[in-house]
This record gives sequence, structure tokens and C-alpha cells, in this order.
Amino acid sequence: MKSPTALNPHLKNILAKKRKQQGDLSYYSKGIQQGDKVILSQAITILESTRLPDQQLAEQIIEKCLPFANQSIRLGITGTPGVGKSTFIEAFGSHLVGQGKKVAVLAVDPSSQISGGSILGDKTRMERLAHLANVFVRPSPAKSALGGVARKTRETMMLCEAAGFDTILVETVGVGQSETLVHSMVDFFLLLLLPGGGDELQGIKRGIVEMADLVLINKADGERIKLAKKTRIDYKNALHLFPPKASNWTAAALTCSAISNEGIEKVWEQIEKYIKLTKRNLYFESNRQQQAKYWLEASINQGLQTAFYQNETIRTALIKIEQAVLNNELSPFQGATQLLKLFKQRSKD
Ligand code: GDP
Repeated sequence: MKSPTALNPHLKNILAKKRKQQGDLSYYSKGIQQGDKVILSQAITILESTRLPDQQLAEQIIEKCLPFANQSIRLGITGTPGVGKSTFIEAFGSHLVGQGKKVAVLAVDPSSQISGGSILGDKTRMERLAHLANVFVRPSPAKSALGGVARKTRETMMLCEAAGFDTILVETVGVGQSETLVHSMVDFFLLLLLPGGGDELQGIKRGIVEMADLVLINKADGERIKLAKKTRIDYKNALHLFPPKASNWTAAALTCSAISNEGIEKVWEQIEKYIKLTKRNLYFESNRQQQAKYWLEASINQGLQTAFYQNETIRTALIKIEQAVLNNELSPFQGATQLLKLFKQRSKD
């Protein structure tokens, strides 16, 4: 007997499409667990998509991958543009690969929400590193609020871990907020600085220095070696003045030259020391739990906001109430209370 597809070539396509949809979830989850970088990339694209069916599929993929995530070391790397982040990540990433690690490099770019452009993502960065078999490089998700970008990056991180990447580098550059968000998703936070000049001169806020587990003075080469050494001592002294960290770790200050590969292995040694200490004193695990709690709360807040602002009744009422507030007929607080009451009623319906 002839198969139905032989009778109708269109049917063949329809059936193939259906099979693909049904198989999508296992295609992605299996591919990721097998460490397939192409499938990992495709899954991240689905995760970044704003289409509802994509979001639903992404949630299922994450759920399937979750049992295989969490087995990695997560490092945050920050510093102002030009300090040498991508050069450092090239050198450091290659060093890690040499140590037998599988490295994923992700980015949180705060500029994408402001300008639609990007400080981190636009240029072709880390090309050498990206070509290595055990490396996966993914630019920042774009065109979304910073909180959304960070959340996607955190989810991406889980998929990378499920794909067997055991060292995750999350790069950011920012004005304060992006560092805080990245800090809340990593185990160890590294701040790159230039030789000379205090952090304020380099556009770094004190709070960010305080978050750092390692301050790394890059470009310690050529004529700048002496200055870099002095800067390191200055930071070493300054770091001691901060209150002790919950991790019990005393932040270190080191110099390196990303361009000539000097001091790179010392960075990893520090990180290993940190991991040993924090696994022993149980901070490592409790910090991850705190972070999971933070992201749970952040996602709930995000979900509530979206539900609120996308609600048709609220949208209509908001226009009226906004006008009443502008006309001084209603205080902003009364306005908010009325809207929230309305939202609660709607949610019950
Ligand atoms: P990013 O914007 O922080 O990612 O900085 P890049 O990695 O793109 O580096 C900015 C510039 O600094 C480039 O011209 C690099 O070649 C240079 N650079 C990076 N690291 C070093 C270093 O260790 N020594 C020197 N002399 N130059 C460096």
C-alpha cells in the first residue's frame, strides 16, 4: 500500500512540522544535555524570545535542564569600557580550557536598554576564545529592561551548566545596577581596574569595589608596571578597611597583563582558594540559596508587574486615574490604591 505522504506531498510537510513541534522539547533538552553548542544557542534564542509559545517552551526546557544545572563555578567580571575585559576573558578563558575546564562566557549589557546599541555586544569580541571546542560565548540579550536582561542571563547560565559548562563567566559593564544584578548570580566577583587613579576617577562606585572578591589591576606591562604595583598596594590596603564579608573572605588585589598573559594563573589560584574556603564554611551553598530566593522574588515582582500593566481594565482605568492625579483631584497614593483594588477584584474573576 502506498504511504499517505506519497499520495500527498503537502501532508508530508505537515506531518514533519507536527513531529518537530512534538519533539521540540526533547530535541532541545537532549541536545543541551549532550553539550551540543548549536542546540544550546537555539534554545537560548527561544528563551530570549518574547513570543508566548516560545516562552512556554523555554520554561519547559529549563525545567528539564534544571537537575543538571548548578554544577559549576560562576564568576562575575566587571570594569569600565577599555579596561581590558574581553582581552582578559580571552586569556583567562584559554587558561581555564588548558586546565580542562569547559567555559561559557555570557554578558549583561546595561547599554542595550538605553540606546538600543551595546557596549559589550556589538564588536566581534573574543573571537579566538569562541572558536575553541570547550568554549561557548553568547552576547547580552538585547532590548529589554536591565532586570529582564539579567534574568535571561541567569536562565541562560542554567542551560549552559546543563550543557556541561563548568565555569561560567558573566561579563558586565555598568553604572552600578548591572554589577549588583550580576553579583546576585555569581559565586565570585572580579573587578578589573587600570593602573593609577582611584576608583572614582575610573568611574567605579565605592559600592562596587566593596562587592569585589578580587581587584585586578590590568595592563601591568611596559611603562605601567611600577604604577600598577603601586595601585595594587593602595587597593590591598583599602580593601582591608571594608567591613568583613559574610563569606569570611578577604578580598585580594593582584596585577596582570591580559595582553601578555602575565598573572593570569594567579587569578585562578585565588578563585580556587575562595571556593575552598566558602565550601568549607558553607557560605558557597547558603549564598546560592540566597540568590535563588532573590531571583524567585524578582521574578514574582516582574510577573505581577506584567500582569498588572497588561490587564485591559487596568489600562483603561490607569488613563483616567492618571488624569485625575494630574488634575489634583486624587492623590497618587489614592490612585494607586484604587488601581490595586481593581486589579485584585479582576484577579478574583
Ligand atoms: P573592554 O572594553 O574592557 O573589553 O577592553 P578590551 O579588552 O577591548 O581592551 C581595550 C584596549 O586595551 C585594547 O586595545 C586592548 O588591546 C588593550 N589591552 C587590554 N588588555 C591589555 C593589557 O594587559 N595591556 C595593554 N598594554 N593593553 C591591553
